[in-house]
Amino acid sequence: MEFAGSFPDPLVRLDPALPEVAFVGRSNVGKSSLINRVLGRKGLARVSQTPGKTTLLNVYRLPAFYLVDLPGYGFAKASKPERAAYRLLLERYLRERQSLAGVVWLLDIRHEPSADDAEFGELLAATGVPTLPVLTKGDKLAHGARTKRAREIGRALGAGAEPPLVTSSSTGLGIADLGASILAAVAGGGPTP
Ligand code: GDP
Repeated sequence: MEFAGSFPDPLVRLDPALPEVAFVGRSNVGKSSLINRVLGRKGLARVSQTPGKTTLLNVYRLPAFYLVDLPGYGFAKASKPERAAYRLLLERYLRERQSLAGVVWLLDIRHEPSADDAEFGELLAATGVPTLPVLTKGDKLAHGARTKRAREIGRALGAGAEPPLVTSSSTGLGIADLGASILAAVAGGGPTP
């Protein structure tokens, strides 16, 4: 794995052309921690992005695909222009990115999906991009509560019969399953010429 760069252009051409999987979620959902865990890195987290730095794609190269760290949404302090720029970046990326095999959509297991989450969910549905909802910070709940919350959030999202995958960057819960799902997604959808 290597860091391939930060790009302001959502349609940046990456060389070589490979399928990609994007991680996105509300700011502070635990995205950096989870990406580090999935990539097997320790302590290299790009700390939570701050307003003003919201419109960059951070790209990691793996042998057969790219992992794209999209900026988190829902900054309480983001200005109107920042929000507009962010929305534009996201829409273009989701609608026009030919190499996008799927989106890993992160939600905090402890919270009801927020208005920002709902808005993002609508955008995902409108674009039809294959989406894997994943719950973060699973270690914050005991086993029974975890299962119950996963079912509840699954219902709130209207996501099929399967509750979302529960993960924890602290304990490693669900990380192997998440890795397998990502590999399956990239194997299923390569870049279109
Ligand atoms: P991001 O803003 O979405 O990139 O979130 P970060 O990865 O920076 O995490 C936000 C906060 O949540 C930090 O204080 C992390 O230590 C904490 N955090 C992230 N993942 C977990 C987790 O799996 N378990 C627990 N208990 N805390 C977590």
